[in-house]
Amino acid sequence: MEGRRTTTTSSRSNNPPPPSRFSALSRILELESRGGHNDRVVAGGLAYFVAHLQQDLQPERLAPDLARLLNYEKLSLDDRAAAIAAARKSLGADPAPDPNAKSRKSTKTRPGGAGKTRGAGRKSRLDTPVTNLFRVGPQYEKLLAKLNIATYEDFLYHFPRKYLDRSNFTAVADIRAGQAVNVIADVIELSSRRTRGRVSTITRGLLSDGSNSIPAVWFNQPYLEKTLQGRRNVAFFGRAQWGRDGPELRAPDFELDLNRSLHAGAQVPVYPATGKLSQKLLRLWAGEVVESCADLIIEFIPEDIRASAGLIGIGPALRDIHFPDSPAAAAAAVKRLAFDELFLLQLGVLERRREWREGSPGRAIQAEREDIREFVRSLPFKLTGDQGTAVGEILDDIERPVAMNRLLQGDVGSGKTVVAACSILACVRAGYQAAVMAPTQLLAEQHFTTLTEVFTGQDLSVELITGALTKAKRRKAWKRVAAGEVDVVIGTQALITEESEFAALSFIVVDEQHRFGVHQRARLRGMGYNPHVLVMTATPIPRTLALTLYGDLDITRIAEMPPGRRPVKTALIAPEQRAKAFSFIREQVAEGRQVFIVFPLIEESETLQVRSAEAEFARLGTEVFPDLADRIGLLHGRLKNKAKTAVMDAFRAHELDVLVTTAVVEVGVDVPNATIMMIEGAERFGLAQLHQFRGRVGRSDMQSYCLLLSDSEDAAENERLLAMTCTTDGFALAERDLELRGPGEVLGSRQSGLPELRVASLSDVATLELSRREAIALFKRDPDLLHADNRLIRERLDSFWDRRAELS
Ligand code: ADP
Ligand code: MG
Repeated sequence: MEGRRTTTTSSRSNNPPPPSRFSALSRILELESRGGHNDRVVAGGLAYFVAHLQQDLQPERLAPDLARLLNYEKLSLDDRAAAIAAARKSLGADPAPDPNAKSRKSTKTRPGGAGKTRGAGRKSRLDTPVTNLFRVGPQYEKLLAKLNIATYEDFLYHFPRKYLDRSNFTAVADIRAGQAVNVIADVIELSSRRTRGRVSTITRGLLSDGSNSIPAVWFNQPYLEKTLQGRRNVAFFGRAQWGRDGPELRAPDFELDLNRSLHAGAQVPVYPATGKLSQKLLRLWAGEVVESCADLIIEFIPEDIRASAGLIGIGPALRDIHFPDSPAAAAAAVKRLAFDELFLLQLGVLERRREWREGSPGRAIQAEREDIREFVRSLPFKLTGDQGTAVGEILDDIERPVAMNRLLQGDVGSGKTVVAACSILACVRAGYQAAVMAPTQLLAEQHFTTLTEVFTGQDLSVELITGALTKAKRRKAWKRVAAGEVDVVIGTQALITEESEFAALSFIVVDEQHRFGVHQRARLRGMGYNPHVLVMTATPIPRTLALTLYGDLDITRIAEMPPGRRPVKTALIAPEQRAKAFSFIREQVAEGRQVFIVFPLIEESETLQVRSAEAEFARLGTEVFPDLADRIGLLHGRLKNKAKTAVMDAFRAHELDVLVTTAVVEVGVDVPNATIMMIEGAERFGLAQLHQFRGRVGRSDMQSYCLLLSDSEDAAENERLLAMTCTTDGFALAERDLELRGPGEVLGSRQSGLPELRVASLSDVATLELSRREAIALFKRDPDLLHADNRLIRERLDSFWDRRAELS
């Protein structure tokens, strides 16, 4: 595509190369002339861009040919073309071919792709370092690197976190201080003055739209005087603040002409930023990157899948996610790009599931059903229907020569432990060992207590191995395990360390999945054991999400609560009603009940947290319940293991009435006689965590209570706590929590070993289900993605899951 007028130019070799600060400008000018001089290339217009540049160049002066561009939008099309040509010439570039003279054929060639094979050009353009962007020098390069942006492609995938709606404009007369406002106004006064100190120039203006006028002020932007002087119908965006006499706009953003701006359509992107990166610059760069690269990303989702899932193409999606014309366009782009991520996620999960199945021969354990039935009959209660089903599913699983990998999901108090006990017994009866891993030492002890109790009379040996044992005792215990003298080992994650050696490990129970990662499971297998794994969790996650997060697990759910349970009565208590709460606690204690009082994570540091719990503990004993002083216990994370155990044992044995504690009591503690859970500073906990706390009571047929105290007056916070008072349904709360805090927080998904998601949200059930459906269908058609149509999916899948490796 040699321009027909090349002969008239001085050849590049005769001119010095353009200074680097102009390189962005030359490219913009090139794009501008290709685009037909309609001033759509730059956010805010070419003039605005050049004005920025001019500021940058001080005290150097712009060449007259460039200075002419400061009036660009006022020029006629012909004059624009001439101005651009002159400017490009002064920058030493080849003039662009006349767009009207383009041959039909040449329009098919992508800019920049001429003369090279398309693939190579594409790749190199996507790999262009960000330093090629306007004004990006070493400093901005560093800041961008913090956002993981090194190349144009990275930038293309740096998505806005939200959009400012700039489609609604307010009349100036209606502006109130404190509001975010968009106005269209004329600049009726404007002047700058120099000052001393950090602010070197203050530019003050008066903006009027006929309804009224409002002052505006900018700092350190002397060039604004030129850009804005006498302008009419400028769009201003900002927040009105209290000025000297009424509202004023401080450093509002503006667009000179909405119709021609690439960026001030109805929806303006706001990017995740860092340090000194202004949204304006990010937008400017994004504009440049999208313009040059959005269409270079190759579509990897085949046409039929796109059609069936209702997705737009990758190119339009990448454009629209940055610069949508409407909320609907943004939504369609987000849907497409979120689908991409979730689709790859689902495919990877399906693959891992298959690998587990095919690569995990397990011991087939012949479970003696009659033994199990007899054991169940020995329990002080009957199993609920769901518990029975769960046991049945597990026994079926372990009878197969494939390692079981099953998630047992049931709300707090639903009775998962006894289900685990039945399965453990089946293994031990068949001559194998079982291990139970808990996330904390307290919980390990809890399981030890429970299991020794239910296994009384079963003639099997249970051993607790935790950090609380001396080294010598631990070594001895492991010796017994290795010799096969121990049937069930209970402990924390330390159970799968080097020193551990089992004689015949074939079953592992993992309590509270989200505290164990995929890594630990892999680790076990690496140690040469391929036991059946039962993961228990009370985290109530919607099914599709669970299938995604734990897609390589089969899921069993216990939805039914043991009979006779009464929903815990939950109340939000105002700080001034605290005395009432205490007298209620006194009544319950007088009736023989027990009480938890949880103190929040008030302080950043654990030391300070402990101190606040200690202070409260002392205060309760001296001021609030002096008569109960020796019946109050204190439990927190800094206590020595022995002390923790002692306090917990005392509470369990009802030697204590009140247990003052920190978040350590969160999971698993089972003291059915406790009927009050009082939570101080409740607003500081997530809903899921509050639900866990509440699950510590209501574990018998006695009426239990959860008292939430909040120091915050914040209505939104209290609304969140109100959700707690409205439902005891863990699933409903989990969904609410997902909405409020996002899945990363709720599920600790970083620990789950899944790739990082940029646009998609695991709480977006619709897209989650859609992507799962399509992934399953594809997986059925072409499980190894060998078909030519799916080759690109294969590539993307591998690199997507590689991203996870970088994280872990
Ligand atoms: P979680 O699912 O939260 O781990 P647990 O296994 O700790 O629940 O059980 C909670 C309490 O319910 C325990 O005290 C347990 O003994 C009791 N429990 C379990 N199953 C039943 C049942 N079918 N009927 C009555 N009580 C039960
Ligand atoms: Mg439990």
